Amino acid sequence: MRAQEVHAHATAAVPGIGLATVYRALKSLIQSGDVVPVELPGDTPRYELAHHHHHHHFSCRACGQVFEVDGCPGDLATLAPQGFAVDGHEVVLYGRCAECLS
Ligand SMILES: [Zn+2]
Ligand SMILES: [Zn+2]
Repeated sequence: MRAQEVHAHATAAVPGIGLATVYRALKSLIQSGDVVPVELPGDTPRYELAHHHHHHHFSCRACGQVFEVDGCPGDLATLAPQGFAVDGHEVVLYGRCAECLS
């Protein structure tokens, strides 16, 4: 979720909590490895609980929600130019979610 959404949830639990406090909490959770920032191209950063499995994302163009996608196309290192070393990848699927299609 986005920082603003985290803030909305936090406000429900702790009325009056500031956005700066939320950002500080997020920062320390990222440092401790409990939360990972997810930055999709052209979107504000999102935060999700750290998983121990590799996964990707589906971004709905209609409602803007981002869903986790299990699975991976596999080793994409062959796409890199000759002589380049790949140490990670990010795959984002775009389209419309089931809710937006119904
Ligand atoms: Zn949608
Ligand atoms: Zn992958």
